[in-house]
Amino acid sequence: MQLQEIKGLGLTTIKYLNELGIYNVDDLINYYPFRYEILENTDPKDIQDQSKIIIGGLTENIPSVFHFNRKLNKMSFHLNTGNFIANVIIFNRAFLKPKLKIGTTITVIGKYDQKHNTITASDIKFGLINKTVIEPIYHSSFKISSSKISKLISKALPYVSITNYLPDSIINKYHFMDRKKAIQTVHNPKDKQTLNKALELLKYEELFTFMLKIGNLKNSQKKATGLSRIVPYDKIETFIGTLPFKLTKDQLKAVQNIYEDLTSSTKMNRLLQGDVGSGKTIVSFISLYINYLGGYQGALMAPTEILASQHYLNFTKLFPNLKVALLTGKLKAKEKKDIQAQIAAGTIDVIIGTHALISENSIYHNLGLVITDEQHRFGVAQRGNLKNKGLTPDILYMSATPIPRTYALTLYGDMDISSIRTMPSGRKPVKTYVKTSKEIKDVLYMMLDQIKAHHQIYVVAPLIEESDKIDLENIYQLEEKMQKAFGKICHIGIMHGKIKDTEKEQIMDKFKQNQIQILISTTVIEVGVDVANATMIVIFDSYRFGLSALHQLRGRVGRNNLDSYCILISDKETQRLNVLTKTNDGFKVSEEDFKLRGGGDIFGLRQSGDMNFKLANIKNDYQLLLKAKEDSSNFLKSPEYNLEKYNYLKNQINNSVNLD
Ligand code: ADP
Ligand code: MG
Repeated sequence: MQLQEIKGLGLTTIKYLNELGIYNVDDLINYYPFRYEILENTDPKDIQDQSKIIIGGLTENIPSVFHFNRKLNKMSFHLNTGNFIANVIIFNRAFLKPKLKIGTTITVIGKYDQKHNTITASDIKFGLINKTVIEPIYHSSFKISSSKISKLISKALPYVSITNYLPDSIINKYHFMDRKKAIQTVHNPKDKQTLNKALELLKYEELFTFMLKIGNLKNSQKKATGLSRIVPYDKIETFIGTLPFKLTKDQLKAVQNIYEDLTSSTKMNRLLQGDVGSGKTIVSFISLYINYLGGYQGALMAPTEILASQHYLNFTKLFPNLKVALLTGKLKAKEKKDIQAQIAAGTIDVIIGTHALISENSIYHNLGLVITDEQHRFGVAQRGNLKNKGLTPDILYMSATPIPRTYALTLYGDMDISSIRTMPSGRKPVKTYVKTSKEIKDVLYMMLDQIKAHHQIYVVAPLIEESDKIDLENIYQLEEKMQKAFGKICHIGIMHGKIKDTEKEQIMDKFKQNQIQILISTTVIEVGVDVANATMIVIFDSYRFGLSALHQLRGRVGRNNLDSYCILISDKETQRLNVLTKTNDGFKVSEEDFKLRGGGDIFGLRQSGDMNFKLANIKNDYQLLLKAKEDSSNFLKSPEYNLEKYNYLKNQINNSVNLD
């Protein structure tokens, strides 16, 4: 059903919803909250410095508003809580000013700063809160707020019929809540218990569907026959001998695994996992070379244009005699057509590009190998998207997020795995320190040392998605501070998700060419970007990240033989963060990440791909995942699977495997 069919939903709103990936009513009601705000008045006794606070009171004066620019503003006023009077500041709510007359009863939600007796509010509600309210929080945008989305969903719910799609046997086995009630509940929870019950069903659904896809891929994998190539291993050894460095033991082992896959008649479906900087790229290049010697075209897909161009440059340097094409969004329509024609004619040996372009109706001449870099960013659904003339290419996935073996076996159950655990020699571990915000001066001095040594620095300011307005504010404040400290001696760049792609690339290029020495960014620093002269990364509010995510970020530095540093600034959870000061081994870090409760999502940075479940979390819901694994495998084998009423599930699975 189309969004237009909902009464009172205008085209502008629809456009904003589209920007969030919501295109129809189903998308809308399946747009689950990513967390809940439990609203209970804070007991005045529990009010502490820097703690979260929810408190009601009367406004004491007329708010004053300060405009930074067209988009950013800051409003402040006094709130009388009955016990004390506090300053309240709130960003980007200037539009509330007319309603905030003196003596208005409101509830303020925010963070309390004792020294300044100030509440930095994230929200203001009119009236008092009398009982516990559970408020769903949705990923929102500048243009459409979480509460607006909530209202739209309530509006849309009566329009749709919601039916169970899990097998009956499973619903009965776990006494799951009815799907319709579950969907209503997650969007409009009345109490925690019912909410948990609803979440249980929806999480299970995600995990079950995912495991069903994996199980199905595994089955089709067994049946598929691959291409067997005749390639003498000497040639590979000769090439390896020409490299400026010696491959590590694990790199060699991975090359051998891949060589065996490519020269045998079983189809390759392999995951190459290894820490950032462990040297996966060269292994992928050698794989492309083996495939080329075997007489087939190969494709390397990168998640971003920046990475694609980086791979292209490196590859053409190593293999000047191969015909290589770079396929990215920057190409003009005609250039793209030309390249595609050459690919189809078979005059191109290796195609390097972004995922979208490589899979977009390119017709290959004889595609034999497909490699996806940073595979965790792509979903299972995309694993099978490549169209080719009757060939089933061998597939290699690369991931820089090592995950513990038990999880790998479950999540990548359909694949063989090669792991690179040893780092290239000569690599120095990144020296990691945890600092509190009070120690910022030390940090600035450490930065100064790096600048003086003509090195470059990443500064990361994490962005919470629900309130990116405030965070943008933060990142500009941070820029101001950095300008004050270093503006005279170096160039400072700033990058965040709201900057256009073309501009991002320009900034990244400048950083690469050392025209920018300090790059302030949210976590949009591209995975895999290689700027060897960057020797320091400073991460603010680092407690907001999981250890693996921090480890990934840390991997941006330490890419040569210089001493490099990672500074984690945090006033909380310093003990957890200390794990990173003790090890530079991504496998160990991810084990710790799994062991520690409550911290971070294993794949770290936000990403698309099926493993980025809307509700389920692989770590916290691991038991549920194991159930879903077993149940889905039984279901695949049972006669129930063939019933017409499970077509919805089947379609989901089939969308993910059409390698023909
Ligand atoms: P990642 O695994 O993160 O993709 P890269 O492949 O980008 O890592 O490798 C990081 C850097 O290490 C590259 O500059 C690469 O040339 C270099 N490198 C790779 N293998 C070795 C090795 N065996 N010895 C020394 N340097 C290596
Ligand atoms: Mg890489």
